[in-house]
Amino acid sequence: MTDRGINTTDTLVIRETFGPTVQGEGPSTGRRCSFIRLGGCNLACEWCDTPETWDGDRFDLRQTLTRTPVAEIITRALKDDPGMVVITGGEPLLHQRKDGWHSLLGALILAGVEIEVETNGTQEPEVHTARWVDRFNVSPKLAHAGDPADKRIRPGALHALLETRKAVFKFVVRDLADVQEVQAFTAAHGIPPHLVWVMPEGTDTATLSARWGEIADPAITAGFNLSHRLHVAIWGDEKGR
Ligand code: SF4
Repeated sequence: MTDRGINTTDTLVIRETFGPTVQGEGPSTGRRCSFIRLGGCNLACEWCDTPETWDGDRFDLRQTLTRTPVAEIITRALKDDPGMVVITGGEPLLHQRKDGWHSLLGALILAGVEIEVETNGTQEPEVHTARWVDRFNVSPKLAHAGDPADKRIRPGALHALLETRKAVFKFVVRDLADVQEVQAFTAAHGIPPHLVWVMPEGTDTATLSARWGEIADPAITAGFNLSHRLHVAIWGDEKGR
């Protein structure tokens, strides 16, 4: 715990909580869990599937985001005993220097649930975050996301996440060229292939299935793991599942 302890009247800006459901992506695919989706992001990916967490041009963020007490977030996230809680966004590590973040992690630890954090890999985990989180699902963005390279690639943050020994790396790819970009990216940043999950981009099963044909074999040959998008296969593009 931090010196100040847990204060569940602390707040965080969230988009939503939902679950129990299942983790749809990465090495925890199929694990029963609940999600806490925080607001705000430092990137602006062209194909982002949660722009309502950060895009003030397209959404009224005063409507889509709510400052919520940690006690309420915890109650909602732990409903029906999910076993694992995934903290996502937006970019959740933008919140990690706030009191509400420390109280949230502390309360989840006291509840005995596993904590997974999904991050875009541009933020260094601070000491308490690195200690308390069980797994970082790091999803660096490739060129097709449209963000400038110096914003989406932060070598210091990638190195710090690797140093926690709790990070896996998940890349959204569309075609063979993207798989090759993942190879170059991971080699440049010292990310071992066995920590890499490659996942097709798409929000419907037809698109996902079509992309597997081009990416699956080259990804396996490169030493990477594959990840489906299980929630898309089950529920399509439905929000909050
Ligand atoms: S990093 Fe994630 S949340 Fe942020 S814009 Fe990109 S896809 Fe969306």
